[in-house]
Amino acid sequence: MIKVQGVNKFFGPLHVLKDIHLNVDSGEKVVVIGPSGSGKSTLIRCMNLLETPSTGQIVVDGVDITAPKAPITKVRESVAMVFQQFNLYPHKTVLENLTLAPTRIKKISRDEASESGLAFLERVGLREKADAYPAQLSGGQQQRVAIARALNMRPTVMLFDEPTSALDPEMIQEVLDVMVDLAKEGITMVVVTHEMGFAKQVADQVIFMDGGTILEKGSPEHFFTNPEHDRTKLFLSRIL
Ligand code: ATP
Ligand code: MG
Repeated sequence: MIKVQGVNKFFGPLHVLKDIHLNVDSGEKVVVIGPSGSGKSTLIRCMNLLETPSTGQIVVDGVDITAPKAPITKVRESVAMVFQQFNLYPHKTVLENLTLAPTRIKKISRDEASESGLAFLERVGLREKADAYPAQLSGGQQQRVAIARALNMRPTVMLFDEPTSALDPEMIQEVLDVMVDLAKEGITMVVVTHEMGFAKQVADQVIFMDGGTILEKGSPEHFFTNPEHDRTKLFLSRIL
């Protein structure tokens, strides 16, 4: 589904991704952990071309998205991203947030986009908030809307960049519950998070990044019982 091959990323002189190789199979759930500045966000942002790799190749669903004439819009339709800061359109209602991209980018009719949008709102438990504005919702509710909005594009891959980090503790679980449900449905997911309970529950692979490299990867069991590197052990001891 996603093949990252020899990817490097420079920001000016700063070498933030160093020869990254990673395969994500269809339906696989990958959790990315690692210290601040290790390149986690940059890596997943490269997967939907919010950042362009400096060198190397990323193939998504058979399409080389790093090719010179890669279809950026098509890539973003199939690889959706949920951010730490929700990024909802403040002047649009919840339902309008869900229908905007499908109608404008995918050219789906308003009726059809609204119908599927309401179904996704139902799934995240927010059907009754369809006509509310983002500012009228709690942080946890806004993030669930952001997830429903991403789903309404019918992506084949969902990327999450610390989706619960901006939330008050009591709202974290309601968002994680939605993500666990989603994981059960077989969509491919790459999730940057420090929620190790989530990793334990859903991850097929956990990736530990440090200094722009993938220092260690393995199953959640591997990370919780037998991490190899001292750097990994230290990191886990701090977040667990
Ligand atoms: P955090 O856990 O704090 O979110 P991260 O692992 O997601 O960290 P990145 O955001 O990928 O780390 O950043 C990796 C490095 O690249 C950092 O040194 C950061 O300062 C730098 N960086 C990221 N984006 C840019 C940018 N647009 N321009 C210049 N430097 C950047
Ligand atoms: Mg980050």
